[in-house]
Amino acid sequence: MHSCSITRRTVHSATHTANDKAGQVFECSLNKQDIKRYSRQLMLDSIEDKGQAKLTRSHAVVIGLGGLGSLVARYLAGAGVGTLTLVDGDTVDISNLQRQVTYNEMHLGELKAKSLYNELRKVNSRLNIKFKSLYADSKNLPTLISTADCVLDCTDNIETRKHINTATLRASIPLFIAAASGLSWQALNLPQNNKRIGCYACLVEHVDVREDCLSKGVLGPVVGMAACHQATQALLFLAKGFSANIKWGHYLTGKADLGSLKSFMLPPSSTCEVCHDPN
Ligand SMILES: [Zn+2]
Repeated sequence: MHSCSITRRTVHSATHTANDKAGQVFECSLNKQDIKRYSRQLMLDSIEDKGQAKLTRSHAVVIGLGGLGSLVARYLAGAGVGTLTLVDGDTVDISNLQRQVTYNEMHLGELKAKSLYNELRKVNSRLNIKFKSLYADSKNLPTLISTADCVLDCTDNIETRKHINTATLRASIPLFIAAASGLSWQALNLPQNNKRIGCYACLVEHVDVREDCLSKGVLGPVVGMAACHQATQALLFLAKGFSANIKWGHYLTGKADLGSLKSFMLPPSSTCEVCHDPN
């Protein structure tokens, strides 16, 4: 396999090592095909060659493969996240096609995890993609996420979200959450290792999160807006780690009709039974 040497905004021929901004030489696993495939994002300061190599070595677990997860996983695969685990026990229904854009009529009745696996294999056959046709719960989550660099909560119910929150906190694995209902969407990045930032259970104390697309309806592209934000945040983190220029612990609400964004910092709750440490 060739290695790469590329500078920002310029793609050069392959060599064996590359230099980061500090001049430090590091091993880079990108070959010529990778450099061409990812050329648009390699031009970005937020990715560059070193970040791309890091994406290639990363493992992201996507839980829930509906409107959020199917799109998030597509973007992560497109960007070259080396290992993806797709988790969902549901099957594709005709009512899904309005917003779950990775599926089509050929997938009706199929397991979402397997359908999405097959579609993503067509996007990039070199990725290590695993699928789990099951619903995440408190028992299986520790194993599902044990080797993850980050987890993306793309589910649609509070109980599963709480289990994912607890499991990622215990394992100190960063968690990217998104949701959408009606014409609004929400997102939250949780480092899950910072006592100055609350967790999803703290959020539930602050905000009414009960709305979902089953009870309130949702417009397809609004789910896409949430998914695109979630995927972007996760990619920036996976490429640069905690030095990435993203906001942790800010609960973001977008209004698709007004084109407005609001956010507030989520503090840890002193009564939270999940993240509060009296010591
Ligand atoms: Zn908490």
